[in-house]
Amino acid sequence: MAVPIVPVHIGDVVRLKKPHPCGANEWEVTKLGMDIGLRCRGCSRAVRLERYDFDRRFRGFVSRADGGGISSNDASET
Ligand SMILES: [Zn+2]
Repeated sequence: MAVPIVPVHIGDVVRLKKPHPCGANEWEVTKLGMDIGLRCRGCSRAVRLERYDFDRRFRGFVSRADGGGISSNDASET
């Protein structure tokens, strides 16, 4: 089965499975396409993930570019 495509938009802030080495785990989406461009909100480092990798690592939305509410599939706290 294919991994579901995450409906991200530029400006969304997302959380991934693994935090950045700087300790932050909030990523702003800066580019869409075959690769997803992300910028770490902790250290401003820019990274790219292949679309497939991004979908696999995605854990939830922190905020949406359109100002909408947090998606109901946001990972619950443990
Ligand atoms: Zn960082």
